Amino acid sequence: MRLQEYDTSVRFAARVVASERITPESTYEVREIQLDIPQPGFTAAAGQSVGVLAPGQKEFGQQHHFRLYTVADLPEPRDGHVRIKLCVRRCSYVDEYSGEEYLGRASNYLCDLRPGDTVTLTGPYGLAFAVPADPDATLILIGMGTGIAPFRAFVRHLAQNAPEFRGKVWLFHGARTGLDLLYHNDPRGDLTQYYDRGTFEAIQVLSSRPHWTDEIDWGSALRSHGRELARLLDDARTHVYVAGLEKIRDQLDRVFAELAGGPARWARRKSELVAGGRWVELLY
Ligand SMILES: Cc1cc2nc3c(=O)[nH]c(=O)nc-3n(C[C@H](O)[C@H](O)[C@H](O)COP(=O)(O)OP(=O)(O)OC[C@H]3O[C@@H](n4cnc5c(N)ncnc54)[C@H](O)[C@@H]3O)c2cc1C
Repeated sequence: MRLQEYDTSVRFAARVVASERITPESTYEVREIQLDIPQPGFTAAAGQSVGVLAPGQKEFGQQHHFRLYTVADLPEPRDGHVRIKLCVRRCSYVDEYSGEEYLGRASNYLCDLRPGDTVTLTGPYGLAFAVPADPDATLILIGMGTGIAPFRAFVRHLAQNAPEFRGKVWLFHGARTGLDLLYHNDPRGDLTQYYDRGTFEAIQVLSSRPHWTDEIDWGSALRSHGRELARLLDDARTHVYVAGLEKIRDQLDRVFAELAGGPARWARRKSELVAGGRWVELLY
């Protein structure tokens, strides 16, 4: 669905409670922004996003820029309000003709907000990642960069609200370097404190040459679990959820084609998984 097609007619103001850089040593700036929403009924499930209306340039007749951000934790009721967190990467891009660098509009607006500021939200939107009906299902979660945000909410949801779920959970968490591994660097150890179950395993996937512009090395990480992954993908109880930037799709397709015995076999297998709701992507 294209951004213009989202219904943004119902808007509400949220107040910034905190904004913290969670990649202090990385060259990339990713901030966790906590927002207070004065609507006791507001809720968002794991994998859902909110819309942000960043102010537009009035001289060009733009009212606002509408962008989506995944809710990065379970909403928390507080004194009749609801608090949510977003995990926002400050983006910029280089114009291929002029070579000039432009700042991403909404992400810079959000990253520059300070406690006490207000922001206009819409939503929530999107299908949530579902807890499988079978309590012994296997979950393979693959998150790259800010794509870890929905899985933080999802794993917390599993631990807090789905005690009947006993299945194995594998979280593949990709970043260029260890310093970019969001939440793993969190001094509160937030990503790991829910994961003391023997059935949970978090696997870090980094670039093999972090000072180069090499891609994240999904191949080595997934291949080193290749036999188990190939077996799990043939098991009707396995669900795979993927989140992050669009480019992860091709990278994963290449590796899974190897594990599945060729691109044609993987294309068939993946379309069965997608059709059965067992392969769900949240890519942007
Ligand atoms: C369903 C959905 C959920 C999303 N969830 C998140 C989220 O949780 N956190 C988040 O930071 N973004 C998320 N995004 C991306 C977000 O909506 C914006 O596209 C992003 O912040 C750039 O917007 P901008 O206005 O700052 O940049 P624009 O002015 O629109 O410029 C976009 C430029 O930034 C690049 N870019 C976009 N997103 C990223 C990124 N995350 N990392 C690196 N480069 C990027 C693009 O390739 C392009 O070059 C999500 C998008 C969708 C569709």
